Amino acid sequence: MAVQTVANTASGESADSAAPAPDETGTPSLGAAVALSCRECGTRTPLGPSFVCLECFGPLEVAYELPTGDPEALRARIEAGPASMWRYAPLLPVPADVAGKPNLNPGFTQLVKADRLAAELGVTGGLYVKDDSGNPTHSFKDRPVAIALEAARAFGFTTLSCSSTGNLAGAVGAAASRAGLRSCVFIPEGLEQSKVVMAAIYGGDLVAIDGTYDDVNRFCSELIGDPLGEGWGFTNVNLRPFYAEGSKSLAYEICEQLGWRLPDQIVIPVASGCQLVKIDKGLRELVELGLVEDKPVRIFAAQAEGCSPVSRAYKDGTDVRPVRRPDTIAKSLAIGNPADGPYVIDICRRSGGAVEDVNDAQIVDAMKLLARTEGVFAETAGGVTLGVTRKLLDEGVLDPSLSTVVLNTGDGLKTLDAVAPSAGPSAVIAPSLDAFRAAGLA
Ligand SMILES: *Cc1c(COP(=O)(O)O)cnc(C)c1O
Ligand SMILES: [Zn+2]
Repeated sequence: MAVQTVANTASGESADSAAPAPDETGTPSLGAAVALSCRECGTRTPLGPSFVCLECFGPLEVAYELPTGDPEALRARIEAGPASMWRYAPLLPVPADVAGKPNLNPGFTQLVKADRLAAELGVTGGLYVKDDSGNPTHSFKDRPVAIALEAARAFGFTTLSCSSTGNLAGAVGAAASRAGLRSCVFIPEGLEQSKVVMAAIYGGDLVAIDGTYDDVNRFCSELIGDPLGEGWGFTNVNLRPFYAEGSKSLAYEICEQLGWRLPDQIVIPVASGCQLVKIDKGLRELVELGLVEDKPVRIFAAQAEGCSPVSRAYKDGTDVRPVRRPDTIAKSLAIGNPADGPYVIDICRRSGGAVEDVNDAQIVDAMKLLARTEGVFAETAGGVTLGVTRKLLDEGVLDPSLSTVVLNTGDGLKTLDAVAPSAGPSAVIAPSLDAFRAAGLA
């Protein structure tokens, strides 16, 4: 596919500030990114809105010339950077001046040292919750979208789009509004009201499709190939190689917040598997750059029982077989045909981790446990991750004596219905001391 270098005109800015200046070869400047390369066969393609290898149909990913030289100097440069994911701009496919452009500045969320939760679960090696509910649209999706936005600007797209299980649609809508692009996002019908409202409130177009997420995704792939979709950047389809890189920032932050150390174990929720694959990539880059000392990191994947194609394949030792009708309260993880499923299994096996799933009741229990012990209200996806953490500790698969990071990828306010039946007033009383005394709560 030809690289477009048309400037973004929708932002009302001059061509120079709206899109990075192309170099002599016509390639837009996206920082240390130098090409796209096939994850399967290694064939290289110029930077552009391509996502499939023309040789073998494997997925494309961003290839870099990462900074070389003194790790101390790079560490100091990162530490002096902005309190957002842009402190890692030298390691991401973004222009050097990205922090000065209109964007949501996501990232650098809290790493909560979860001592009370650790005591409850019997973890002695240090337990941490990486709380990505603190992002601008309250899920980790702001990270990949921020990278996709830069790619969209670089390639001259004027409409930002996506197929979404809910959180991505909101993140795309917000990012497009901040950047002055049009947005049109696609979701399956029947998502949580808060996610539908968040996807619509930023003023772009929201289209609900009568079908599953996988139907929505297929529809978007067709739209890209049609003149109807011309000028459209789909964050997780034709911009996917760039989008995906955003999740590396989670790995960078976790290690920096641990004092530039790798954790021993990390538990990550899996829908498409994109986030897990890129966290693994981010961890390895930190070692290659000399920013952290190498040691084994066991990577664990968490799914919801009602949509667990990766977990099933892992346990059965089979290929990943699509789930046709996902049925889980963890709707943000309800991808029946996960693109990165096989890679997730490889990474978990290679690293000495595992893939596990939990049911809806266990998800709710975990959401309540996290809120009660640490004051962190996670969405159902966070309940999946903590629920799986608890299950793997009980099964002796996770080692309680090792440092362990659990991801909370979204905000509990997005999935209120999951816990509303079991979280309400302890009592409803008249405004009198007698009534309060009678309620027995003093
Ligand atoms: C999208 C999403 C995930 C999973 O991301 P993948 O990269 O598709 O595996 C996890 N948690 C939340 C809250 C999400 O919205
Ligand atoms: Zn290939």
